[in-house]
Amino acid sequence: MFKSQARGRRYEVKRLRPSFRSGPREMHKIVCSDCGKEDEVPFKPTEGKPVYCRECYRKHKKY
Ligand SMILES: [Zn+2]
Repeated sequence: MFKSQARGRRYEVKRLRPSFRSGPREMHKIVCSDCGKEDEVPFKPTEGKPVYCRECYRKHKKY
């Protein structure tokens, strides 16, 4: 008998749990520079730069 089975078990233990640390991201409230809608973005908006809501962001990304 080989010990390959025991090795497979080790992987099971090492298996990562769904990381809850990176789960809830910090949201920042913004007011869309395009449509004026309030929204939240998972990144820190740069001051002086236009911020867009999800919809407008997609729209502007296209071009
Ligand atoms: Zn918008």
